[in-house]
Amino acid sequence: MIIVLKPQQTRQQVNTVCAEIKRLGYTPHVMRGVARTVIGAIGDERQHASLESLAAWPQVESVSRIQKRYKLVSREAHPQNSTITLPPATGTKRNSAPVVIGGKKCVIMAGPCSVESERQLMTTAEAVAEAGATVLRGGAFKPRTSPYEFQGLGEKGLKLLAKARKATGLAVITELLSEDHVELVAEYADILQIGARNAQNFQLLVAAAKTGRPILLKRGLSMKIEEWLLAGEYVLANDNPNLMFCERGIRTFETYTRNTLDLSTIPIVKRESHCPVVIDPSQGGGRADLVAAFCKGAVAMGADALLIEVHPNPAEAWSDGAQQLSLEGFRELMKDLKPFLAAAGRE
Ligand code: PEP
Ligand code: MN
Repeated sequence: MIIVLKPQQTRQQVNTVCAEIKRLGYTPHVMRGVARTVIGAIGDERQHASLESLAAWPQVESVSRIQKRYKLVSREAHPQNSTITLPPATGTKRNSAPVVIGGKKCVIMAGPCSVESERQLMTTAEAVAEAGATVLRGGAFKPRTSPYEFQGLGEKGLKLLAKARKATGLAVITELLSEDHVELVAEYADILQIGARNAQNFQLLVAAAKTGRPILLKRGLSMKIEEWLLAGEYVLANDNPNLMFCERGIRTFETYTRNTLDLSTIPIVKRESHCPVVIDPSQGGGRADLVAAFCKGAVAMGADALLIEVHPNPAEAWSDGAQQLSLEGFRELMKDLKPFLAAAGRE
């Protein structure tokens, strides 16, 4: 159920409503908007008393049922766009402003598929920061199809990401593969990436959500949009409001590209949900020559951020070489994107 409060309620008035929701057997999730506060009450209505009685409370404007299977991620529960603010990097050379995902600026997250060495990561981080990226990507734990392929540097990779953050002021996003990594990765990362292969690993989602770190949830290889939104629901239902959805291409009959990048998810997910939408054009096509076109399309369709693979020498990359942009390719892309961002009303 959704309980919309009248404007300008004090914290104490909100708490009183929450206490009543709990007393009736539901879990309240408070969402504070600019104009008013909305409380999502989650629980099995067949087992508990009705919340309809709250409609008579002086603080309450309306009580209504959420029709969709996903509740807290839905626009019904939270009509305004959500924004995610990353804390400014501390102890950096550059004075970095906080990064806001879901706001006016289309956030550029860029970096190598895998962290390979200090030199590779630092060179890339400096170059992407210079060109306008504000988040550094890089996998330390890699979900490789074959066990004989490079699996990532693990904690050593995380340490290098932290070093690059300190040197450049970039925030860091990196993937975690299992519940065993959650604490370790959360220590180093500003955003936790849940990869396509783990998109419905619900226990991992819950554990990641509980760290309180922002979560980027990739779409699974064969995941329907509703399943993806429901997976996201696990994050919000575990009291972490900082969720973004990332489309990275799905499996179809098409073999020309590695995956089929489904840009239709941008308007659909933004209609259904208040959470920011990110596009990964690199896994999306699996080809560096398609990245620029995918980025332009994504910006035009309203993507809140782009997650782009960049490597100083893609031909020698230890993973995903064919789809990574060179440093020069990334610089060019950032220039080419400018008019598209302006046309879309973004910065
Ligand atoms: C990646 O970002 O390098 C990656 C492995 O992504 P995905 O989970 O989308 O395949
Ligand atoms: Mn990759």
